[in-house]
Amino acid sequence: MDCTRCGACCAFYRVDFHRLDGDDVPGGFVPVAWTLPLNASLLRMRGTDAFPPRCVALFGDLGQSVSCAIYAKRPGPCRELEAGSPACLKARRRYGVSEPPTG
Ligand code: SF4
Ligand code: SF4
Repeated sequence: MDCTRCGACCAFYRVDFHRLDGDDVPGGFVPVAWTLPLNASLLRMRGTDAFPPRCVALFGDLGQSVSCAIYAKRPGPCRELEAGSPACLKARRRYGVSEPPTG
């Protein structure tokens, strides 16, 4: 599946990850400017708990052409969600993104 023609998961799931992965910590890499503190141990990608959700790092038109502004530095949950997985297909169904992508 071509994620650059989709983006559904970035507008469906909350994206939380450990503060130690933030770039304000030695060894961290996720730009904290794109996040909000959730509690003492977690950060959340801004926008992923909005209604409707949409990560602030997602650019473009969902289901057509998208990109992640921090792709090389995206947090663990984004790396772990596999294209074609049940979680992927659930998000795609929510937005009516066809399988496989068209266009
Ligand atoms: S929902 Fe699936 S195909 Fe779409 S961007 Fe996410 S992982 Fe890629
Ligand atoms: S950081 Fe990038 S890959 Fe992760 S939810 Fe946001 S736009 Fe999607």
